Parts: sequence; C-alpha cells; structure tokens
Amino acid sequence: LQPVPSDIAISRAQPPKDIEKVAAEIGIHPDELDLYGRKKAKVSLDILDRLTEVRNGKYVVVAGITPTPLGEGKSTTTIGLVQALGAHLHKNVFACVRQPSQGPTFGIKGGAAGGGYSQVIPMEEFNLHLTGDIHAITAANNLLAAAIDARMFHESTQATEALFNRLAPKNKQGKGVRPLSEIQLRRLDRLGIPRVTDAEHLSEEQRVSFARLNIDPATITWNRVMDTNDRFLRKIEIGLGPNEKGHTRTTQFDITVASELMAILALTTSLADMQKRIARIVIGSDKTGNPVTADDIGVTDALTVLMRDTVRPNLMQTLEGTPVFVHAGPFANIAHGQSSILADKVALKLVGQDGFVITEAGFGADIGMEKFFNIKCRYSGLQPSAVVLVATVRALKMHGGGPAVVAGAPLKHEYLDENIPLVEGGCDSNLRKQIDNANKFGIPVVVCVNKFATDTDKELELVCSKAKSYGAFDAVVSEHWSQGGAGAVALAKSLVKATEGPAKEFKFLYDLELSLEEKIATIAKEIYGADGIELSAEAKEKLERYTRQGFSKLPICMAKTHLSLSSDPTKKGAPTGFTLPIRDVRASVGAGFIYPLVGEMTTMPGLNTRPCFYDITIDPVTEIIDGLF
Ligand code: ADP
Repeated sequence: LQPVPSDIAISRAQPPKDIEKVAAEIGIHPDELDLYGRKKAKVSLDILDRLTEVRNGKYVVVAGITPTPLGEGKSTTTIGLVQALGAHLHKNVFACVRQPSQGPTFGIKGGAAGGGYSQVIPMEEFNLHLTGDIHAITAANNLLAAAIDARMFHESTQATEALFNRLAPKNKQGKGVRPLSEIQLRRLDRLGIPRVTDAEHLSEEQRVSFARLNIDPATITWNRVMDTNDRFLRKIEIGLGPNEKGHTRTTQFDITVASELMAILALTTSLADMQKRIARIVIGSDKTGNPVTADDIGVTDALTVLMRDTVRPNLMQTLEGTPVFVHAGPFANIAHGQSSILADKVALKLVGQDGFVITEAGFGADIGMEKFFNIKCRYSGLQPSAVVLVATVRALKMHGGGPAVVAGAPLKHEYLDENIPLVEGGCDSNLRKQIDNANKFGIPVVVCVNKFATDTDKELELVCSKAKSYGAFDAVVSEHWSQGGAGAVALAKSLVKATEGPAKEFKFLYDLELSLEEKIATIAKEIYGADGIELSAEAKEKLERYTRQGFSKLPICMAKTHLSLSSDPTKKGAPTGFTLPIRDVRASVGAGFIYPLVGEMTTMPGLNTRPCFYDITIDPVTEIIDGLF
C-alpha cells in the first residue's frame, strides 16, 4: 500500500499462522515445542542432538554504519532479508533477533520488531513479556544480590561457630551432620581444604575460612536490576530498616538487560555451560583482594533453577510467515549486544546446509559486528559466511557533514532533497571505514542501501558504486520496508552469490594470548581509527588486578558510544588523530569478557518528559493495544 501504513496497522492486518504450523514447516517436531499460547513457543535444545549430523546453514550477520538519529534499519533489514530468502527465493531461513527490553518500549524508543512490511508478529507479544525470560533474569539476578547483602550481614552479626552451623547444618533427623553440598565441596577445593565426608571433620581453622567470605563491600559490582527505565534507582542506599542494624550501603539498580545473567544467556551453549558460567560470576573481592564468586555465595544451582527455561529459544514469525527466534538481548555497550548463540545453533541445523540464518548485531559495525566476531563467534565456534552492512542515504549525509537533527523538529532540507556532496562525504568517511573494518575478518560484505521515500536514484547509485569501489562484494538498493520480502529479492540474491563457492577464511581481529592492554589497543587502532589508547590510573590498576586474578585471556567488550567511531559522539564520519581514553575497566567473568569503559555508561536509562507510555492504550473490550510502536 502507498503510503505505507503505520507499523502497528500492518502488524495487525496480517493474522499470524499457528506457531505449530511455523514449527512444522521448518522441521521442528511437536514434542520439541512448548507452546506459550498459539503465537509463540519455546523450542527444545534436543534438536541439536537430533540434527547433529546435519551440516549448518549459511550464517550471516546484519550490521550497520555508525548510527544517527535518522535511523538505519538493521532490524527491518534482517526481517526483510529473511522474508525475501524464505517467501520469495524459497530457501530455508531463520532470523535470530534480540528480545527488546521493556524499559525502552515504555520509555524513549518504542518497540523493536522491525518496521513497515518487514516485521516480527504479533508485535505486542514480541515487545512485552514474551515467554518470561527477562523476568527470570530479574529474579535470578536479585536473588544473588539479596544473598550477598544477607551474607555480609550475617557474617558481621554471628559468631563463626553459629555461622558455620547454619551453613553446614545438622541433619534434620539428628543423625550426624548433613553432607556438604556440591557447591560447598567446591568451595573447600578452592580454599585448598581436602574434601571431608561431613563438616564435623573440619578443623577449627578450616571452619573459620569456610564460614567467612569477608567480602569487601567497596568492591561489590553485582547490582540489583529491574526492566523499567527508573532513573531514581541509579544510586540508592540500602539497609535503612531498623533490623539491619546500620548495615547501610550505597548501591544501584541497572536495567535487567544490563545484568551479566543476560550476557550469560546470550553466550551460553547449554544448561550445563550456563551453570558453570553462573558459578564463575565474580561479585567483588574479599578483604585480601581475592575474587568472590556466585559459587562462593552458594547460589549457583538456585540461580540455574530460576534460569532453567530461558535457555530454550523463543519461536515467532515474520509478516510473511517465515520463522524467527527471539532470544536474549544483552546491552550493547557494557555487554556484547547480540541475540543468543543457542538460537543461532538450533536455527543453523534446522535450515540445513542450503539454508540461511540471518542475525543482527546491535549499534554500528565498529561495535556490534566487532563483538559478534570476536566474542560471539569465538564462544560459539560458528563460522560466519557474510556480513550485510546497512546504510541509508540520510545517515550518510549526516556523516558527510549534514546538520544535526533536533528531536521532534521537522527534518532539514539537506535530508529531504538531493545532495550529492553530502552523500559522497558520508561514503568516503564512515561507509568506507566500516567496509574496511568488515573486510578485516576475511568474509564478504554486501552493502544494503535501505531506501527511504525521499532518496533519489542518483544518490542511491552513488552509494552503491562507492561501496563497491571500497571493496564491498556488492551493494544493492533494498525496498523491504515499503514492499516486504519482494523489495529485498535483489539483496537476497546478491547475498546468496556472496556465500557460494568454497568457504572464505574467517579470522579474528586479535589473539586471546595478547595482554588485555594490547587487545584493547588493537580494537582502538584497527577498528576505530585511533592513534592509541590512554589508560586512567584506575583502568591501569584494574587491568593489573584482572591479570593477577587470572582473567587476562578473556576477550574484550568495549563500552564506547555508538554514535561515533571515536569516543566523542558529536564526531561523525571517520575521525582520525585521536587517542582513545579508557576511563575504567570492569569484568564479566561469568559471561566471559573484560569491558573497558571509554566514557560514562548509563546502565539504567531514565524517562524523559515525553515517554512512549503516554501513547500506549488498550481497549478493554477488544483488548486491542495501540501505541506500542
Ligand atoms: P535499527 O535496527 O537500525 O535500530 P530499525 O530497523 O529498528 O533500525 O528501524 C528504525 C525505524 O526506522 C523503524 O521505525 C522503522 O520502521 C523505520 N524504517 C526503517 N527503514 C525504513 C525505510 N526504508 N523507510 C522508512 N522508515 C524506515
């Protein structure tokens, strides 16, 4: 239809197929499906065993040029592309996307199911609770937070013997002592105490070290979380009740998707692996500087119980009825911003060797794609086949020196009328650098020029010819937003061609054996175009500490602004001649990465004066929801 109706009107006009039908069409057996109503289901990981002999499909990541307020359309392109491959070229396909956080849905951004005629449906399900994975993460995260403060409280108020008796209590029947749990035995191992048949056999000295974690409260990095944009929880004081006897502490809430447990869900390869990662979570240090883990707190299995169902990917569908996994959605700055490894693995088996799995990397390619390769592919062992790099004429104009965009104000004429010099400037700077970056990983890059109604043919052609001249395998104009899959057939055909022939040699940007500082400098220089890095005293101290604690072999997850290749969000294009400042460094040991902080990173968004929730309505009779997008 012209003009293209609103996203919600399109979404509602297309009744979804029964999810059982979507599942059957892609070869999921009925007993591998847990239905959550008729439009979404969780899918069993047993599929990985059943299809172990099947060769994986082609694995493609959709990334973008550096984002601008004008929007690039990575999610829309991911969905448009699978619709073209599946519904028009009749390939087996899967899209694997992130589950959106409810914070932004009711806050500043609105929903995130794609747009126009390229969407995941039903968008209400997609944007709201889905199957409860985010709620499970909230529950598990906060159990650990509660356990940490309770442990410190009890250690300070109880005599060692009383504390010990509670941690290793007498058997209820009064016969001897209850055997130590597996988690407690592991703690003995770490303390260098030989395992005993029961806790009675520990010496006085061993009981003291077993009973007391001696957590240094100043080092605690585990925060509470909730999935709401609540700026008043960015800094809080806890323990103000009379029964906590003055055990106050300043701490904070983060948004749930910033929890390390979300990053763990995205990077894990099985429930057993998740259990190990949860055990390894470092929540802070003890008073002698040794790391204290979730396992030391004794919550590994309890957290794994709460997270049990989350490991199974959530099945939904596109507007054109092709399958989609919506699974995990970690923050893209302090975490790696990718949907789950498990969804990709299951999808790659289901589509088979002639099929395609298209997944999306958040933010610009300098962040999303770099982390996709260096963190996600490293942990999954999966070989990517191609990158689709999304660019728009309007965003390139901004990178080429176009005026700033003021939220709510009408777009300036530069973005609405033909302006070849601005497009050219954006191509020669940002597009060129992002193509160069993608080419460093050794696999083909197809540029998708996501067409907006105001783009002229001359502008679109210029972007395509420039992209090819910088070393893209191909560059194609795509109209999936206004035409659905039919508008992305040319893009899909080009992608098929790019992935034909012998597999290209995919390579990582850096070796894990390098020091943490060398790894950070490699990303800064090679990907961002910096001359080098400058470590603050705090950052230096942390790098030394993490190296001493044995975490130097972990990959790096940069927490940098997504609005510029540099650390300054106002610098568009491809800045040069700058040194990247590293303000601080943190560790997500359970998830498995070290994250340097380049600027101030907010892990709890706020609500502005005009949040989206004003626009959200429900008709209580029909239950029709409006304004979610
Ligand atoms: P990203 O994933 O890069 O953040 P999205 O795919 O979510 O971007 O798109 C952002 C917004 O831009 C959505 O509301 C979408 O409907 C809109 N959009 C995307 N492509 C186009 C287009 N070609 N024309 C008009 N609007 C578009």
